[in-house]
This record gives sequence, structure tokens and C-alpha cells, in this order.
Amino acid sequence: MSSSPTKTRGLLNVIDGVLRDGSGDPFTVLDPATGRAHTGYALAGPAEVDDAVAAARRAFPGWSRATPGERATAVHALAAELGAMAGELADAETAQTGKPLRFATDFDVAGTVDNAAFFAGAARVLEGSASTEYSPDHTSSIRREAVGVVGSIAPWNYPLQMAGWKILPAIAAGNTIVLKPAEITPLTAVLMARAAQRAGIPDGVVNVVTGTGAVAGDALVGHPDVDMVSFTGSTGVGRRVMARCAERGARVHLELGGKAPFVVFADADLEAAVHGAVAASVINTGQDCTAATRAYVHVSLLDAFVAGVADLFAGIRLGDPRDPDTDLGPLSSAAHRDKVAGMVSRAAAGGAQVIAPGRLPDGDVAGGFWCRPALVVGVGQRSEIVRDEVFGPVLTVTGFTDDDEALRLANDSPFGLAASAWTGSVHRALRASRELRAGTVWINDHIPIFSEMPHGGVGASGFGKDMSMYSLNDYTVVKHVAMDLTAHARKAWHRTVFTDRSPDLQVPPTM
Ligand code: NAD
Repeated sequence: MSSSPTKTRGLLNVIDGVLRDGSGDPFTVLDPATGRAHTGYALAGPAEVDDAVAAARRAFPGWSRATPGERATAVHALAAELGAMAGELADAETAQTGKPLRFATDFDVAGTVDNAAFFAGAARVLEGSASTEYSPDHTSSIRREAVGVVGSIAPWNYPLQMAGWKILPAIAAGNTIVLKPAEITPLTAVLMARAAQRAGIPDGVVNVVTGTGAVAGDALVGHPDVDMVSFTGSTGVGRRVMARCAERGARVHLELGGKAPFVVFADADLEAAVHGAVAASVINTGQDCTAATRAYVHVSLLDAFVAGVADLFAGIRLGDPRDPDTDLGPLSSAAHRDKVAGMVSRAAAGGAQVIAPGRLPDGDVAGGFWCRPALVVGVGQRSEIVRDEVFGPVLTVTGFTDDDEALRLANDSPFGLAASAWTGSVHRALRASRELRAGTVWINDHIPIFSEMPHGGVGASGFGKDMSMYSLNDYTVVKHVAMDLTAHARKAWHRTVFTDRSPDLQVPPTM
């Protein structure tokens, strides 16, 4: 089974409905499962960003004034297009990320189609407060309006889902968008923009520019005609993006890194916790911002937990992502594989026990960017592998003796994206839900996401929400409209300014 289609040349910018070449250096999308070239293209630069922002600006008045029903119809049609091209999307996602086709189909594509269906419905439910009189002389109402042109930047781990999380709420709320995918994984974002055109979404509403962060990303973030920047990626780059937005006061929405704790209390169902820890730490080869990374396990269960996870790690099949028997694909790039390997070997050099029982694949995919799932035991809370984001299939395991200690260790991280607690006790579950500092807390599970529920973090994991009505609201501005009810030329409150104290100018009690 070959996992590396022939190399092609791609046009990976969609600007005002036109597929265009970039004006920058040549670049090659690699198939991470083989390390071989998949698609060559020219990177976009500031010229393409300018054109895309101008197209989005031109499209904004028409799209933002379309009725919610009209926008909903178009986004429903986009959901249908995405569903109809599920096979093509899954193939492209697998080719550029190396993730198993089964996973790309069941999780990335299915999740994106569901997200599109959700935001199509949500487009019709822009909520505001009731119109009423908060003073006797005025009727107030709230309008929720689109922000304008959104510049979005996405990472490489879930390229299709990230494109969906950025594009769908933005356009459902009436914004227009310029999305910059990661330059190593642009294929499915371009397919989504083309699907938007076929769905009847006007040209210029959804634009994609494919370039590097330093050039195209920076040009987009600093563009004076971009009203809002929505960024998903690492904490370090996110903070630079925020500083850049601060220069011109642009609105910013940040989804950053994670380092999710996985807390196994003494009364947990051990089998559930072991299976949960393995699935949640290796999902997407650990390149998941909510992946379980730090297991804290009650000492009474520690040995059995380590043995159980090591046993399941030994059975995980790395291999050709198009083989239905493959469990796990490679990491996304050689540089990332080297970073993960470096962190694991430094932990081992520092005295940690590293248990990585799996086998690396051979044959046609031997040249891929492979990394065996690794369990790291006996590490200090302050060590690099516990503090910093690894973004690979690596789980550290630390013992604890009481609940206070477990929650303290779990919260001892600058990140706050996701966490889970495993327990049979309703009291522990409630305490963990309250005390774990994270945007999502799972009880007796770890990973599932739903289009209706928000995803987002606190602390070094950023702010702003993806998915759900919270995300739709993040892409709107709230406007208060106050209308005079009196039809009087001289308003009561004018008394605070004019010296004329005629008796009919009564100052309302609130002034
Ligand atoms: P990254 O920060 O290196 O890059 C993210 C994006 O930013 C890429 O498109 C990149 O080209 C661009 N970029 C880089 N420098 C830039 C600059 N100076 N100006 C503008 N754009 C720039 O992150 P990555 O390595 O691609 O992705 C992995 C990271 O993303 C991890 O930290 C992970 O936790 C995070 N992530 C977070 C979420 C979430 O929802 N919170 C989801 C997925 C991934």
C-alpha cells in the first residue's frame, strides 16, 4: 500500500474567488509518513495578503447585510459540500499530516461537517437583550454586528478543523475572512474555500493565503485593514501576535498551547483510566492541544497504571496511514520529530525512566517522521518535560498521596486549556470540576468535543472560544442603540448643561 501520491504543483491561495500562485519562494508540502514531496507551490507574501484583505473588505458590506437566514442557507450548503467531498478532504488531510485516514475521516472531516451545520443554525440566533426603556425617555436595543475583516492564522495539527473553527463562526456572524494556514499543511483549507464558492458564498468572503508566519502571517496580523485577528498556535507566537495587534488596537482572539493534566484518584476505575490515558495522550500522535500530557495517579494505583499504559503502548501500530489497521501516524515534520525526541532524551538523561515499547514502521514508510509513544516515569514537577509543551505522544506519570496534592500538582502549570479527573465519587468529581483551572474539564473521559460546547483556555492557553455560541459571539461587536421617545427639542438632561432652569426641564433621577 503506497502512502505517497505523485508530487503535484499547487495554487494554494484563494483570493476573491480566484486560485492564485504566490509571489514568494518555492515550498514543498511533504507527506510526513514517507518524508517525500507531495505538493510544490510558491509561498504567498505581502502582495497576496494585501489583495486578499482588499477582497475581504469589498465583500464585507454585502455579506454583513445578508439576512441571517441567507447566511444560514449558504453555510448549510457549505456543510453539504464538505460532506459530499469527505473522501477528497480526508485524503488531502492524511497526505499533508500523516494522520490515519480512518481518523481523518471519522474525526477531522465528520467534525468539520458537524461544525458547519452547527454554525449554519447559529447564524440565525444572534442574541441581544430585550428592547426596553432604561430611562423614561429612551428605548434601548442591542445590535450584534459583524466585526469586519478577520485575519486568521492556523496551526498544522488539525488543518481542516482549524480552518473550520476559524472560517465558520466568522462568516456565520457576517464577517469576511483571510485565513493563513500553516505552510506545511495548506491543502484542506484551500479545498474548504473552494467548497464555500460552490456553496454560493460570494467571492471575497472566504480567502486563503498560504505563506510562512514570518512573512504572510506577520503581514496579515499587522495589516491596517484587518479589524480582528484570530490566532491558534503556540503561546510564544500568540503573544507576539497580540503585541502586534496592540500597536493598532486591533481585536485579538487567541487559542494557544496546552499541557493537560490527567488526575486518577484512588477510587478511579483503573481500566477506564488506563484506556483513557492511552487514547488521550497519543491522539493525533500527541499533536493535540488538549491531549493528556501529565498523569497524576494515586500511589495505590501507580504501579498498575504504569503497567497498563505500557502494555497498551506496546500494542499501538505505527504505519502507513492509509492502512486501516494503522493506529497512529508520524509527527508532522522532521523538525518537530527532532524536538520531541530531544525532550524525551533530556528527560532520560536527567534520570527519568522512559518506557517506549512500540516498533517503528519499515518498508515504504520507513522514511517518515516517526515517534514511538513514550511513558516517562520518575520526573520532577519542575522538569522540562512536565513544564513545557511536548506536542508528541508522550505521557509523564507522577504519584500523589491525597486529593489536595493532586489538584495542586494539576494546577501547577501556566497553561489552562483542558484537564480531566477520574473518580467514582461524585464529591471528588464536583471538587475537581470546580478547582481544576482549565477551559474544559472532563470527568471520567478526556478529549471529546462537541460543536455546541466552547473550546478555549485560560492563562498561557489564551482566551477566546472556538465552536459554540460563545465563538459566534466572539466574532461580533455589541452595539447599543438608544432612541429618544419624547420628540422634545429640549431634553430633560440638557438641564445639566444649560443655565435655563425652566420647570419643564426635569432632571431624571438617574442623572
Ligand atoms: P506556531 O505558533 O508555530 O504557528 C501557528 C501559526 O502561526 C502558523 O500558521 C504559523 O505560520 C504562524 N506564525 C508563526 N509565526 C508568526 C508570526 N510572527 N506572525 C504571524 N503568524 C505566525 O504553532 P504550530 O507549531 O503551528 O502549532 C502547534 C501549537 O498550536 C501548539 O502550541 C498547540 O498547543 C497549539 N494549538 C492550540 C490549539 C487551541 O485550540 N488552543 C489548537 C491547536 C493547536
